[in-house]
Amino acid sequence: MGSNKTSDEFNFLEAAFVKRTQLFRDCTNFVVGKGNPRADILFVGEAPGKNEDEQGFPFVGAAGKNLDKLLEKVGLNLDDVYIANILKCRPPENRDPLPEEIKIHTPWLLKQIKEMKPKVVCSLGNYATKFFLSSGKVDLMKGQPGITQVHGSVKEIEIDGVSLKLIPLFHPAAIIYNRTKLTPLWEADMEKVKNEVNFLKITS
Ligand code: URA
Repeated sequence: MGSNKTSDEFNFLEAAFVKRTQLFRDCTNFVVGKGNPRADILFVGEAPGKNEDEQGFPFVGAAGKNLDKLLEKVGLNLDDVYIANILKCRPPENRDPLPEEIKIHTPWLLKQIKEMKPKVVCSLGNYATKFFLSSGKVDLMKGQPGITQVHGSVKEIEIDGVSLKLIPLFHPAAIIYNRTKLTPLWEADMEKVKNEVNFLKITS
């Protein structure tokens, strides 16, 4: 069982914001994260889907199975990464997250980032990428470039007082629909992620 939304472990301010939303009332579980919270790499997806909502863990449906395969191809597993989402609760019918929802849910993500202190954050797909490229200023997300333009580029950003290296990646769900073209790009981008982490290990 994942993160039952009624558990009293979620008694902090950032969770209290989320508990005031309709998404919280409609969802089954909080989807907080999975993997190794002491890892150097944090993946951030968009929002839980149906399977994630039922199980309380991110990326356990079709996109998650593809992510597992993609990680295995580059020699990594859940010990090497932690995985979270922009939203902690599933939007109805998997609709796109609304700006107001992103504003209310992401203080919790930023709290996770402060606790984890990852060396590299990999945003998966457009929503997470635009959130980080706009340094968490949700009203600026619309003006940010899309994932096709920025995947694999390393960018130093500052968000809520935290400096981090961002490397955007294609979303594993998008790769399912365009496997032949996007899988090699994902693998090449992940080599950059691994190189960056190794470089930061040597120099820190
Ligand atoms: N897609 C996401 O962005 N996150 C999940 O947890 C599952 C699918």
